[in-house]
Formats: sequence, structure tokens, C-alpha cells
Amino acid sequence: MIKETLANWRSSHLGRLLSESLRKQGWLYGVAMVAMIVVAATTAGTAWMMENIVNAMTTPEMKSQVYLIAAAVVGLFLSKAVASYIQSIFLARAGNRIIAVQQERLYNKLLKRGVGFFAETESSNLLMRVTHGAQAARRLIDVMVTSFVRDALTLVGLIFVMIYQEPVLSILFFFVGPVALLSVRYILKGVRSIMQSEMKALSEIIKVLQETSAGIRVIKVFALEDNMTDRMNGAIRSVEKRANSISRLQSIASPLMELLAGVAIAGVLIISTLDITGGEPTSAGQLMSFITALLMAYEPAKRLSKMRVVIETALVPVGMMFELLDQEDPMVESVNPEKLKSGPGEIRLNNVTFGYQGEQKVIRDMNLTFEAGKTTALVGQSGGGKSTIFGLIMRFYDPDQGKVEIDGQNLVDVSFASLRRKISYVGQDTFLFSTTVMENLRFARPGATDEEVIEAAKAAHADVFISQLPNGYDTQVGENGAFLSGGQKQRLAIARAILRNAEILLLDEATSALDAESEALVKAALDKLTENVTTIVIAHRLSTVLQADTIMVVQDGEVIEQGNLDALIEHNGTFRQLFDQQFKLPGS
Ligand code: ADP
Repeated sequence: MIKETLANWRSSHLGRLLSESLRKQGWLYGVAMVAMIVVAATTAGTAWMMENIVNAMTTPEMKSQVYLIAAAVVGLFLSKAVASYIQSIFLARAGNRIIAVQQERLYNKLLKRGVGFFAETESSNLLMRVTHGAQAARRLIDVMVTSFVRDALTLVGLIFVMIYQEPVLSILFFFVGPVALLSVRYILKGVRSIMQSEMKALSEIIKVLQETSAGIRVIKVFALEDNMTDRMNGAIRSVEKRANSISRLQSIASPLMELLAGVAIAGVLIISTLDITGGEPTSAGQLMSFITALLMAYEPAKRLSKMRVVIETALVPVGMMFELLDQEDPMVESVNPEKLKSGPGEIRLNNVTFGYQGEQKVIRDMNLTFEAGKTTALVGQSGGGKSTIFGLIMRFYDPDQGKVEIDGQNLVDVSFASLRRKISYVGQDTFLFSTTVMENLRFARPGATDEEVIEAAKAAHADVFISQLPNGYDTQVGENGAFLSGGQKQRLAIARAILRNAEILLLDEATSALDAESEALVKAALDKLTENVTTIVIAHRLSTVLQADTIMVVQDGEVIEQGNLDALIEHNGTFRQLFDQQFKLPGS
């Protein structure tokens, strides 16, 4: 039973966070907790000392002890100051470590997620979870440790002083406590749901900002400023409203406690004059000590009463963070992955069926062979499934049925690293990191010398424009290559592929952003690159695929025609129609 409860608690977000953090940052918390015990003891000690202080001032025979008492007071406050300092420092260090550890874990986990996950998850949502989640984790542990150790112990110490000095009056105080606790229960209701909608609104703010930055041209050209302002204001106001609701709930606790404390003190004053105990008369010192303890108990009691609210508000982002950490991606490496063996590079799709979502199939029972060392072109209407075939070959996705093989090895069995080392890919959009041209190219082959990089750039006919940039190869390209044109970015992507020099080359509309002259030049470089390399080219401009060894026409997830150029023209089918559309002059 106890074991079960403990297991449940551990599996809850709170328990899990605490047990993980205390285990990993144990000694930091250990030191902080020892300091907290000292703080609690010195606080109670101060209240207790009040008896001696007042008595020393009011009774002539104790006057001689004034210096001793004064020294003790200084000692007590000094210990408290030192302990408070140590507690803050160590708590902060442990907390900052927790943020760092959680963010590292989250990022490592994210990097392992498949392409599909990123297609489905908004980046603002990820940002939210990684930043707020880790911050909330720290806040949660801070409040738990501080409340449970320092505040609870301080309260126990002060209650002890109260009982010791004035047992009867203390009973009154104990009536006040439960009333305060009941009021907090009311506050807790609703905090969690308000918090959830606040998180949603916060991530909307990030999303609007991201879209403003990425889509500023579209926003300007379609005059969407008002629309964007409305979206942003909506999100900002929603956060404001939620934050106000939470503050309102949090603010109820303090005044309520204050009111109760006031009533309690008034009660103490009246009852102490009634002398209901009939025993030894209470000294002024004892009464002062009691009242001091009561007043001092107010702060920790207030924090304890608020603790649950703080925990509830932090639990939502922490829960979202754990969700991200726990989700298993369906696209995982097999347990003991084989290495993709070095081979000629024949790619085969065997009875492959695939859909991104549910029943909607994008590839239907496809059987294809891409011959080793040859160039195959994929043509056909957009949306037919050509890029999806690339996604399957790079194992961004696994087929729902059937298998994809390279030289007879099923991709599901091979390691991601050995597969992707073998492939060069130039996509429709070139992604550039926000660094220099040189570094952006070198990503294709870390360790390549500057000369090798420049050689590849020359082959891709990128060298001329790079040399004209303000700092040549050391020019920063801006966020996702903002300082470069589409055609320039594409030539950098081709230079990357040349530098990588892999055994399989996948080109998805790789020259679509180039003008006719550049395309002809780049094509010559690509032709050299594709010699003896298994190459698959997707292109809408048929001029770029005419020399392919095989051309396949893809439509609605199936290959409807395949053969060399002559055979397909002869066949007089869909390819012939496409060919005529692009090459025949009107009326001829
Ligand atoms: P092509 O390259 O021939 O233009 P694609 O392979 O890009 O075609 O797309 C085939 C189909 O798959 C299209 O209907 C497209 O809408 C859909 N699709 C592509 N990517 C995704 C995705 N990540 N999630 C859901 N559907 C997708």
C-alpha cells in the first residue's frame, strides 16, 4: 500500500521532478537545507529571546545581564544572516542547474524526433515547452524546498515557543490555522485551467512574432498589418486576462491571513488580561515573546498557504515539458542497427504503401528499382508523391507496408548515420544556418579544407558571386540566408552536394531557381557529379531530365509510365503530353 502510494507519487510530475532533482543536485540542496534549518532555529530563537530582552529592561535585578543578552542577540542575527546567504546561493545554483539539465535533455530528445513530428508541431509550442517548462521546474522545486524545509521548520519552532510561553493563548492560534487552510482550497480551484489557457496564449504570441519575422514580405504586400495586429493584441490581452485572474486568486490568501492574524492578536491581548489560568502570572517578557512568535509566524504561514497555488501554476508547464520528454517517436532506429554496407547503391521500393496521416495514402503499392550508378528522373503533376519517395529513401518516414532497400538492405534495419552518410540531397528550399558562407558549405563535409570548399563552390558556379560578397567566403548569410537570392542559395546547396560527394544523389527541383544560363552551367557540373552515382532527379522543367537513363511518370502515388526518353515519346501517353506542352510551339 505505502509502496504503491510512493510509486504513484513518483510517477506524478511533482514527485518525479523532486526525486530526479534531489538525486542529481543532492548536495547543493543538502547544504541549502542545512542552512534553512539554521534560519528556522535562529528565527524561533529570536522570538524566544524576547522574554529575556523585555525582562532585562523591566526588572532591575536582571540589568547586569544586558550585555550578555545583547551579545546573544547579535550572535543570533549574525547566524541567521550567514545561513540565509548560504541558503540563497545554494538554492539558486541548484535551480539554475535544473534549468540547464532540463533544457539539455529536452533538446537532445527533440533532435531525435522524426521529420514528421516537426511537420505536425508548431515551433512556438516547442519554444514554449523548452523555455517555460524548465523555468517552471526550477520555480516548483524552489518553492517546495523552501516551504517544506525552511517555512515549515520555522513555523514548528515558533509554535513551540508560543506553547512554551503561553500554552492557553496558543490554543486560540490553532483555531486560526485551519480557517486559513480552508480558504486556500477555494483558491486552488480553477488555477490549473486558467494556467493552461495562459500557456496557449503565450505560445500564440511567439507564433505571431515568428510569422511576422518569416512572412514580413507577404504581410506588407497583402497589407495584413491590421490582421496581424488583431491577432497579436488578442493573444496579449488573453495573457493579461489570465495573469490577472491568477493574481486575483493569489492575492486573496495574504489579506485573509493578515485579517486572521489581527483578530488573533486582539484576542491574545484581551485573554491575557483575563488571567483565566489562575496560576503563575504571565510576565511581560513571556507575553512579548509569545506575540513576537505569533507575528513572526505570519510570513512563513502566508507562504505555506500560497504554496499550493504556486505549485499548481508551475505544474502545467512542467507537465507539458515532461510530455515532450516522454513521447516516443515512431521513427526510431532499430535496437541494434546494422551499418549500411558500402555497395553500388541500388535503391528498391518493394510493395511500398505510405500515407502521412491515417487512411489517406500518398504512395500506393509501389514497386520501383533505381539502378545503381544511373540517373532516374521523376516527373509528373505536383502532389503526385515524388518528394515523398525521397522522404522514404532518406528514412524521414517508414512505409506503412512494404520495404525500401539499398543494395538489398532494408532501411528499417540500418543506422540513421550510415544511411544518411551515403546520401546527398538538394531540396526545393535551401536551408542556410545563420553563419558564414564557408561554414554553411563545410557542413556538407566537416573537416573539408578551405581549398576543397572553394573547389566545390567553383564547380557549382557559386564562386563568382561569393567573391563579390562584402567579405567573400567569410560573409554572414543572415537568418536562413536572408542576404542571398534564391538562385544563389540554390547554388550553395549544389556546392554542398558536390562537396559531400556521396554515393546516392537526390535532387528535388535542384535548379528551379536558376536562370537558363546558370542552369546550363550548373547542369554541366551536376552531370559530372552524377557519373557513377545513383541519382534521382525530380524536375518540372523537362529540359533538365531529358538525358536521364530512365524517366518515371508519377501520378497519384503510382508510377504510370517508365522508360527512356525515346520509349516514352513513342508510347504516346502522359509523358508525351507533358513533353508536347513544354516543347511544342503553339500551333505547330
Ligand atoms: P510531389 O513531390 O509529387 O509534388 P509530394 O510527395 O510532395 O508530391 O506530396 C504528395 C502528397 O502528400 C500531397 O497530396 C501532399 O499534400 C501530401 N503531403 C506532403 N507532405 C506532407 C506532410 N508532411 N503531411 C501530410 N501530407 C503531406
